Amino acid sequence: MVTYRPILRGAGYAGIFYFTVNGLMKLFLSGAPEANILGFVSLGFAAFCALIWWLAKRVKTHSGLELCGLALCSSLIVNVSIHMSITFEQENMAYFVLVMPVCACVNVTRRAFAVGMLGSFFALLWFVSQNIPSHLTDYISVGAAGILVSLGVSVLVRDSIINAVRAQIAANDERERAVNLATQDPLTVLPNRRSFFQALEDRDQRLHQSCEGFVLGLIDLDGFKPVNDTYGHAAGDQLLREVGRRLGDAVPDGALIARLGGDEFAVLADLPGPGKSVDRFGNQITRSLGRPYEVEGNVADVGASMGLLVCDEAGPSQKQMMERADHALYVAKRSRRGGAVVFSAHHESDLLSLGRVEQALRESDLDTELSLLFQPQYDLHERRVVGFEALARWTSPSLGVVMPDLFIPAAERACVMRPITQILLAKTLVALERLPQPLRISFNLSVHDLMSPAAVEHILTQVRESGVDPARLEFEIAETALAVDFNMARTAITNLRQAGCSVSLDDFGVGYTNVSHLQQLSISKLKVDRSFIAPLLDDESAAQLVRTLINLARSLDLECVLEGVESFEQLSLLDAFNARYVQGYLIARPMSVERIETYLAAVEAGETDFTSLPPAASAVPKAHKA
Ligand code: C2E
Ligand code: CA
Ligand code: CA
Repeated sequence: MVTYRPILRGAGYAGIFYFTVNGLMKLFLSGAPEANILGFVSLGFAAFCALIWWLAKRVKTHSGLELCGLALCSSLIVNVSIHMSITFEQENMAYFVLVMPVCACVNVTRRAFAVGMLGSFFALLWFVSQNIPSHLTDYISVGAAGILVSLGVSVLVRDSIINAVRAQIAANDERERAVNLATQDPLTVLPNRRSFFQALEDRDQRLHQSCEGFVLGLIDLDGFKPVNDTYGHAAGDQLLREVGRRLGDAVPDGALIARLGGDEFAVLADLPGPGKSVDRFGNQITRSLGRPYEVEGNVADVGASMGLLVCDEAGPSQKQMMERADHALYVAKRSRRGGAVVFSAHHESDLLSLGRVEQALRESDLDTELSLLFQPQYDLHERRVVGFEALARWTSPSLGVVMPDLFIPAAERACVMRPITQILLAKTLVALERLPQPLRISFNLSVHDLMSPAAVEHILTQVRESGVDPARLEFEIAETALAVDFNMARTAITNLRQAGCSVSLDDFGVGYTNVSHLQQLSISKLKVDRSFIAPLLDDESAAQLVRTLINLARSLDLECVLEGVESFEQLSLLDAFNARYVQGYLIARPMSVERIETYLAAVEAGETDFTSLPPAASAVPKAHKA
């Protein structure tokens, strides 16, 4: 319809011009008495055409435009008719025929076109029948020819208009698609990374100008990869779309959710209103995303960890904002998997230290700066040391001695874990050769080692080439690594076991491993996290929990090491629980490889605190290993 607007206005222009010139010529150049009337009539029609020209721009409806076209055609017919009524001139009959193609061009609808054309045709015949009836048949054929020509013109005009409109629509669609492609994630139809950063910039500017704060949240799915691997990519896509939908439902109005790529999503929302906390906001989202998903008839357990940052004062750059939210997400992944962590002041100092450590790591000579300490593991049944856990230390020239709790996460973030593992394992294998038979060494693996088949292969090659008995080497895998990618971890564990090494599940109880998962893994040992031992003597429920964990390991036919035993009382109680393996400061603090020999001699000689444990422990049946 809108394409007719300029045509109608163009015809209006032509009408104004034609009638004005025609009217002025009649008024000033013609001497005939009726010319004055005709001149004024023409000027009147010029004014009418101006009205149509004005209306054509303003009418909003289809029927309004249809009426304008019809009015213009009618005015032409009426104008010719008035001329004919005043002075009939046969040669001017051609004007009726000329009006017809004009009707073909300016009328929006076929209906209006037909009315205009037939009006012109019958006006022509009426004047002929009144003035020159003998020529009626001639004029019927002239009129019919005019109608045919007009029909042709109408078809041509309409076709070209329709084609032009279609081409325009296609071009618009294409442009829209291109814009969408640049700003939208095609899978979830959520804004993509690019539009997320644009929105972040907008909110940041708003914060600078009007102090309107906002919350930035980064979300990473836990256990998405196994769904993709097990059920296929179509199922993975379906799950991601569902995540997008749930996110949309979980966030308040006005919030922006985006897919940053893979299984990473982001949220930008206004600060929660009074009485609502950012923690609650985050937990609401992770709870909603953590509900089971139905994919292709199966139920998939996928969780979501979230890092949140409250941006309520101008200052940090966008890069810093992202770094902070990302750090909160990292903390959530490590310690609150499936939950939300809000970035706070103490994270700020952690981030600073991590940054400094990462930087120092890059500049370090790890081969000489990394070393190992060894902490004994004690068998309460046999009353002897059975092995040592290798614990990494890094003596940085710029930072001094850095504990692994700090530099291992930094190395993981900086993706330099693999060379570190290789150096530490080489040192462990050398130490193992010095250790009296049949003592064993446990070596900690990072989740980064486990998630790379090439890294596991390299580890096994190192073990083979060292010539040590693989049965004397144990690998410790943190329970939280299972949540990152269970299938990958299971494959790595199987490969390590097939090479003859044993594998233990470290920091057990901190993560959420279910028993059926444990049964699928070829591990030989659980290491109960020291956080369970610390409150052991304080209350009955803590003691009960430790007992349950010991019994769980026994029922699964797994050995069980209780970590973090610091006092003699704790040891006595664990002995009474029929626990078998213990590790902790009471047994010994981590020591250098050179000290091991003296230490073992002292234990043998009963010169250590814990060896004074009464033999009463053996009164408890020890038929089972705990
Ligand atoms: P982890 O595997 O749980 O190691 C035990 C940690 O508990 C050690 O800390 C040890 O010194 C400490 N510990 C032992 N007994 C007691 C006790 O009675 N009380 C208390 N409060 N702590 C005790 P460390 O050496 O600082 O290591 C911390 C973590 O760093 C380790 O936790 C492990 O996850 C990681 N780590 C250490 N060495 C390596 C390594 O070579 N490779 C990898 N990937 N990670 C390592
Ligand atoms: Ca360990
Ligand atoms: Ca541990």
